[in-house]
Amino acid sequence: MPTGQRPRPIAAVRPRPSRRAGDLAAIAAGIGGGLTLAISLPVVVTGWANPGGIANGLGILTAMAGTYLALLGCLLMARLPWIEREVGQDRLTAWHRVLGPYALVLISLHVALTTVGYAQSIGVNPLRELVTITFTMAWMLPALAAFCLMVALGVISWRRIRSRMRYETWLMAHLYFYLAIALAFGHQIEAGSIFVGHPIAEAYWIGLTVSVLLALLIWRIGLPLARTLRHGARVQAVVPIDDETAHVYVSGRRIDALGAQGGQWLSWRFGTRQWWWQGHPYSLSARPQSTQMRITVKDLGDQSGSLLSLKAGTRVFFEGPYGAFRVDRRETDRLVLIGAGVGITPIRALLDELPAHVSATVIYRVHAEPSPLADELRWIESSSGGRIRVFVVAGTRRQFPMTPGQLRQAAPLIGESDVYVCGPTGFIDAVTASAVELGVPSRRIHHELFEF
Ligand SMILES: Cc1cc2nc3c(=O)[nH]c(=O)nc-3n(C[C@H](O)[C@H](O)[C@H](O)COP(=O)(O)OP(=O)(O)OC[C@H]3O[C@@H](n4cnc5c(N)ncnc54)[C@H](O)[C@@H]3O)c2cc1C
Repeated sequence: MPTGQRPRPIAAVRPRPSRRAGDLAAIAAGIGGGLTLAISLPVVVTGWANPGGIANGLGILTAMAGTYLALLGCLLMARLPWIEREVGQDRLTAWHRVLGPYALVLISLHVALTTVGYAQSIGVNPLRELVTITFTMAWMLPALAAFCLMVALGVISWRRIRSRMRYETWLMAHLYFYLAIALAFGHQIEAGSIFVGHPIAEAYWIGLTVSVLLALLIWRIGLPLARTLRHGARVQAVVPIDDETAHVYVSGRRIDALGAQGGQWLSWRFGTRQWWWQGHPYSLSARPQSTQMRITVKDLGDQSGSLLSLKAGTRVFFEGPYGAFRVDRRETDRLVLIGAGVGITPIRALLDELPAHVSATVIYRVHAEPSPLADELRWIESSSGGRIRVFVVAGTRRQFPMTPGQLRQAAPLIGESDVYVCGPTGFIDAVTASAVELGVPSRRIHHELFEF
């Protein structure tokens, strides 16, 4: 690692950025969970002493809790702007992944407990009762189909299986989850003892389900479509940097009105015959201009590779901007920005957003030089009047495992800084562990994960 950085006096610490929307969302989720259990309890308590009452009661509670968590998981993926801006999509996705297994286990317990409860109440074999319920009760066949879909999705979301799947297959499979929610809805409302004859509980549950679906429709489909039409974005030029990397310039009307900042990403669909239906995330690699955005893409597979030969004039559909990897999330005025490989793109764009009093040390980890964007970074360094320092660190992972010593060598004052790190999971984990060891509190470590 290069040495010799001149320590600067410690910068004035800014007040902590607001986390209000995230806190309010957590409180709202807690209240929703409480309400969901509250509407269930009277029915559970009333039937407790009946034959099969305990299993039935637990079946109701697990159904409500599991479905509530499933709806919450969907809402996390709706990309509600005020939460997404604070928390960041990668964290929301992580929470979504945590909720998923709990929802599935609770819903599975509901199926088992309710079957046992019904069987006990009339003294028959549970398996026989399962068949009877499925074929004689209203909406039970669709509910069983929904359950099978959820189990299948749970299985393919298991990390070992997911890592072997193409991203697009995995994403498409996820769309079936919405079908599952719709299929299960009928049996909840028509056969659920909490709802039949309880109009307030019914109104609450319908309102909750419809709100989640509306949020998905508005923010995942309506808003991106409106923005795409409004800005009329098209590919302006593709400028190769080397054999496997290129800048893609996208022009459009009033791009500045998007409010996108350097460090953020958008999900991009390029209107070619083969790729129009697939949105892929790419970070801005420079601050957007009034009529132009730039991304820098590395050929890592079929879609990214195809972007290197995009034709000027190709229509561009986008979703976003997204991401909490922004300069305004910092707590200090001293930044250490660390990117691996193509993970340097949002860091390059962050540099465009630095206020004049903020200093930055950039560590760019590459396998070998020349590396994309290194020249641009050096140019930014040379015209920053010493405010920005850039270290391009070329070598293998074994040579540079991003130990605390290596980080401190490039950025001696890292302990009093905000650390921004972007790259694959292993890299982010290594940098985070070292930064924590060097005294950086975790709230001052901001990351953007370039993986799904
Ligand atoms: C928030 C974010 C910002 C990104 N910014 C950039 C950038 O500025 N420049 C750049 O070159 N790359 C960036 N990437 C990575 C880029 O999205 C993937 O390289 C690209 O989608 C690969 O698609 P593919 O069909 O070419 O490759 P595939 O063969 O399908 O996949 C290659 C690799 O990319 C991952 N991947 C595939 N599709 C996606 C997807 N839709 N979302 C997330 N990961 C995916 C796969 O897990 C796999 O590891 C970013 C990723 C994320 C999550």
